[in-house]
Amino acid sequence: MFFDTHSHLFEEDFDIDRINCIKRLYETNTKCMFVGFNTNNNIVAYNLAQELNMYSSAGLHPDTQFEDIDANLASLREFIKTHKVYALGECGLDFHWEPFDKERQMRLFEEQIKMSIEFNLPLIIHSRDAHQETFDMLKKYEGQVYGIMHCYSGSLELAREYVKMGWYISLGGPLTFKNAKEPKRVAQGIDISHLLIETDCPFLTPEPFRGKRNESSYVHYVALALANLKNMTIEDVENITYQNALKVYNIKE
Ligand SMILES: [Zn+2]
Repeated sequence: MFFDTHSHLFEEDFDIDRINCIKRLYETNTKCMFVGFNTNNNIVAYNLAQELNMYSSAGLHPDTQFEDIDANLASLREFIKTHKVYALGECGLDFHWEPFDKERQMRLFEEQIKMSIEFNLPLIIHSRDAHQETFDMLKKYEGQVYGIMHCYSGSLELAREYVKMGWYISLGGPLTFKNAKEPKRVAQGIDISHLLIETDCPFLTPEPFRGKRNESSYVHYVALALANLKNMTIEDVENITYQNALKVYNIKE
């Protein structure tokens, strides 16, 4: 079995042909974590997971534009209390699109970190153009928090620091891109026992479909790229990353 540790297959992008995407999940033996990222779609992700007997998470993305942080955090807390979710996230920091409100993002992130400790859930971390700030924040809670650096785009050196702190590094479509040097260094430099694979669909489509919509069944292209980089068989990558996913998400099969 393959485990796509980061899927947004519940998104509107798939409304016209989701049934076919789901068929391909079964054909390729792929399971998914459906990752929610705002108050509206946390429930949508949950419902799809229930329908397919798969898994979901709930969180508030740093990019989401809502007025009232406290009201959204309160909804998230209530949702986690009343629904079985396997992780808190995605959450984190994104300083890519200007203008952004750094203070606001930091507070939203830190409140979710505290919530993950309270509910003993792994975190799914989104970090874009904010590598140092994300690291500093998670370092502050070292030993209390754990989880996944999703679609990791930082340096190998920083990845090693995360692994020392018990984090998993998740790699996606960019691993298949010719010009993506750093993700390849990370794939080769981090032991497979701390690596995961994901799609982040509908985004970050791997080769040979780059430029088109991504979907979770394509996660095996990421597995193949990882196998080539690590000189392993695809079966070994498939099995080990699957077991890693069960472990970090505390899934008992
Ligand atoms: Zn995502």
